[in-house]
Amino acid sequence: MTHKVAVIGAGLAGLSCSSALRRAGCFVEIFEQEKTLGGRVATIRNGLVAFDAGAQYLTARGDKFRSYINELVASGYAARWDPKTTSGENKGVQLHTWYVGTPGMSSIVRPLAESVRVHMGKKVHTLSQTDKGWMIWFEDQTNVGPFAAVAVAVPAPAARLLLGRVEGMDEALSRVRMMPTWAVMVRLAERTLPDQDVFSDMSEVLRWIARNSSKPGRTSSGGGETIVVHASPNWSRETEDADPEAVAQELWSEVTRQLGLPAVTPQQMSAHLWTHGLVDQSLGESFIYSTHYKLGAAGDWCLGRLAEHAYESGQGLGRAIVASLT
Ligand SMILES: Cc1cc2nc3c(=O)[nH]c(=O)nc-3n(C[C@H](O)[C@H](O)[C@H](O)COP(=O)(O)OP(=O)(O)OC[C@H]3O[C@@H](n4cnc5c(N)ncnc54)[C@H](O)[C@@H]3O)c2cc1C
Repeated sequence: MTHKVAVIGAGLAGLSCSSALRRAGCFVEIFEQEKTLGGRVATIRNGLVAFDAGAQYLTARGDKFRSYINELVASGYAARWDPKTTSGENKGVQLHTWYVGTPGMSSIVRPLAESVRVHMGKKVHTLSQTDKGWMIWFEDQTNVGPFAAVAVAVPAPAARLLLGRVEGMDEALSRVRMMPTWAVMVRLAERTLPDQDVFSDMSEVLRWIARNSSKPGRTSSGGGETIVVHASPNWSRETEDADPEAVAQELWSEVTRQLGLPAVTPQQMSAHLWTHGLVDQSLGESFIYSTHYKLGAAGDWCLGRLAEHAYESGQGLGRAIVASLT
């Protein structure tokens, strides 16, 4: 019998979980609140140019994720990125090979989304159990179901809203801490950054500056360059209620100060807040799953703070669901 399983969240963890479920013959439906796939592995288009606003690059520590990246590279969805990290060199901060999605980071989830049904713009509000299985309720009070099992692949604080009343889950989910992160996307008419493509931990305010246009497959902006800036989690927490325009101005001034740039006015600049951006305290287990309720949760926050952790967590939860249904 084909089991119907619902996955909430079309980030890397949700899509990875779906692929494990599909491989085992389950019928999978994904519900995603946004209108785009990928979650924090995001390509945000701003006018004519696209920016990698969330995850900057992928690294693989384990064999499974390495073989997934190899597949992406072979099919043209990713390529190696060798940025200049210190003048003239590309080693410095790079312990592992860096890969990026092409033409933007969100391409890296595309193969996982093939042959699954993804319902976009569907924010899940509640889960309810009936004698036939789980029903999923949306914000507009419509529902779908029943499903034999549900995988909740959203950031831990959002998972807590859906699973907090399930025995034992609230305690586990409340141990996880996630921090906000501001991302600022900047387009400049001329090349302005020094001869280096990435800068990390420049000050208490700045966590990361990257020349987005130095990544492979990015369209150049007519001789100029595109830049992505990430604020530090602490500064982002202090300013999470601030006006995005003011945040963009403040962070660009800080970049100018720290890198000693001439006073240039960007052609375009915008800020995006990742409310649950980076994991500060992870769970320390690959996923959460109740074989009794057939409900589980996955995400980067289970194992760490990287895309690879999200991928592994999703695979683990998918396999656990399959084992519990057979
Ligand atoms: C600024 C920043 C920089 C980063 N840099 C790197 C990096 O360089 N390298 C790296 O490996 N990792 C990096 N990461 C981390 C990486 O992006 C994450 O580890 C990974 O994308 C997490 O995937 P996920 O599926 O667990 O969660 P998410 O990507 O957050 O996916 C969760 C999905 O669930 C959806 N959702 C949430 N609530 C609901 C709901 N109620 N109903 C329906 N849908 C819902 C969300 O819209 C989202 O699409 C970075 C993250 C940030 C924010």
